[in-house]
Amino acid sequence: MKPLRIPIALQQGVMQSLQAKLAQAGEYFDCTFPEPAVSYQQRGTSAGTAWLERWEIRLNPQLLLQNQQRFIDEVVPHKLAHLLVYRQFGRVAPHGREWRWMMTTVLQTPVRRTHEFDLAAVRRSTFPSRCGDILQPEATGTKQ
Ligand SMILES: [Zn+2]
Repeated sequence: MKPLRIPIALQQGVMQSLQAKLAQAGEYFDCTFPEPAVSYQQRGTSAGTAWLERWEIRLNPQLLLQNQQRFIDEVVPHKLAHLLVYRQFGRVAPHGREWRWMMTTVLQTPVRRTHEFDLAAVRRSTFPSRCGDILQPEATGTKQ
C-alpha cells in the first residue's frame, strides 16, 4: 500500500503542537526534553501509538487527514504524555493518575482516553471484520 501523503502544513501543525507541549513540560520540570521522533505509519483504527523506549510517536495518517486540527489538539499531547510519564515515572498504568496529572497539570490539555473520530474509512480500508475495538483503551506495555 502506498503511504498517504501528509501535506506539509499539517505536518508542521503536528510538530508545532508537539514542540509547544514539550516546551511546557520542559518549563514545568525545569529541563530540556529531546524531541520525539514522529512518523505517520500507524495502521488500523488506532489514532496513534507512543513507543516509550524509542521515544517515538506513530500517528495514523488517515485519521490525521480526516480530523486535522482536532487530531493535532487531542492525539499529539495524549501520546506525548505517555512518553513524558515513562521518562518521569517509569512503567505505570497507561492512563493512570500520573498520565492524567501530566495531561491536565503539566500539558494543560483536557483528558480523553479515547478519540471519538469517525473510523468508517480506516475500518473499510484496513480490517473490515474487526469493528469491536474502536474505543478500547490502548494496550499496556511498550507501546502506548
Ligand atoms: Zn493513551
